[in-house]
Amino acid sequence: MNIVIIGGGAAGLTAALFAASPKHTVTVLEQNEKPGRKLLATGNGRCNLTNLDQDPEAYRTSRPKQAAAVLRQFPVSSAISFFTGLGIYTKNRDGWIYPNSDQASSVLAVLLMEAQHRKVKIKTRETVTGICREEDGSWTVYTRGWKYPADRVIVTTGSPASEIAGSSGDGLRFAEELGVGTVPFLPALCPLKCSGMDFQKWAGVRTEGKVTLLLDGVPVASERGELQLTSYGISGIPVFQVSRYAVRALEEGAHVEAALDFFPDMEEEQLAALLNQRMMHCTYKTQEELLIGLLPDKLIPMALREGRELDVIARAVKELRLTVRESAGFERAQVCSGGVDLAEVTETLEAKKYPGLYFAGEVLDVDGACGGYNLQWAWSSGAVAGTAAAKEEDR
Ligand SMILES: Cc1cc2nc3c(=O)[nH]c(=O)nc-3n(C[C@H](O)[C@H](O)[C@H](O)COP(=O)(O)OP(=O)(O)OC[C@H]3O[C@@H](n4cnc5c(N)ncnc54)[C@H](O)[C@@H]3O)c2cc1C
Repeated sequence: MNIVIIGGGAAGLTAALFAASPKHTVTVLEQNEKPGRKLLATGNGRCNLTNLDQDPEAYRTSRPKQAAAVLRQFPVSSAISFFTGLGIYTKNRDGWIYPNSDQASSVLAVLLMEAQHRKVKIKTRETVTGICREEDGSWTVYTRGWKYPADRVIVTTGSPASEIAGSSGDGLRFAEELGVGTVPFLPALCPLKCSGMDFQKWAGVRTEGKVTLLLDGVPVASERGELQLTSYGISGIPVFQVSRYAVRALEEGAHVEAALDFFPDMEEEQLAALLNQRMMHCTYKTQEELLIGLLPDKLIPMALREGRELDVIARAVKELRLTVRESAGFERAQVCSGGVDLAEVTETLEAKKYPGLYFAGEVLDVDGACGGYNLQWAWSSGAVAGTAAAKEEDR
């Protein structure tokens, strides 16, 4: 059987290994000059390849039951055994799993070595332009200069997130051309552009804090960690974690706000009492001077913007409300929400309308939180689709 996989990223390479068998010819078509470009950038080059805490809410999708059914077939334990088998010794940082080498290049290297060992053909600089179903139920995959006949096709083209070469929405287009239902891609795990402050004045600050997302005034998600304040708004892991809800809500016309708390360990009254204590201790200090050592310098004008009474300062530090205007764009996003609707595929990720056509990875409508969940989804869905595509069955 000819199995053609479109896209040589995390999901495509995994699918190839699970589909590979002496009985089949497995070909991966990759538009870049090398496979796995995005994989190399993961975890700041260290590759956070999965997470031991499999909170179902870490996988965001309009079809949580269907996503869970895929993850159950190839859970974290399977992903870790798979990589251990390939030669990756893993390390655990509070449940976040990395290769012991701390190098994403090791993860890509072992996938490619195994692919070569199992005689998977990887054709690079091959941009797929379309897929066509033939009358006999087989497929033709068209590239810019060639066409590949296939008995099974697995689409693993990822998403347009990031500036990394090859990031594309092509898989969604292929699905739409065939009438397979999709949810439009939107940036997720991304910085947010805001209004409500002169952001130039705080650009460059990195500080511990909490961000709460409010949709039409109602708090919907809250995250803590290192906030990064930029010339256009807010960034950092906690902002990334809530960003997909913000961007989707903006698309639906909601009023979206981010409330920042720069002193999350204390209640407002406790903070006001602390300020009072500091003032009594150093009566010679101005309000600005009183805040030195408590907040980064660039945040002091923000703390004093509403007034100089201690309870007003405490409130300003505990709840800075910003209006979220838009995402910082696909090129600054790590992943996309949206993709091929999971209602359109079976539990083995085969298109319900088209036997022999599979989807895996980020091209599907599942986006994970930061922490290794996106790669876990790529490994799980790639393994499930690859295994199913390789099964010989009468169609
Ligand atoms: C900077 C950054 C850091 C990240 N860090 C992490 C992390 O630490 N942990 C984590 O879990 N997730 C992380 N992610 C997310 C993770 O990288 C992705 O979710 C994952 O790579 C998706 O795998 P995929 O195989 O579906 O898509 P990709 O890895 O994007 O692979 C898709 C491939 O398809 C190819 N392609 C696209 N269109 C065509 C076409 N028409 N013809 C031929 N080839 C095509 C592309 O060139 C690409 O190689 C990070 C993402 C970024 C951008």
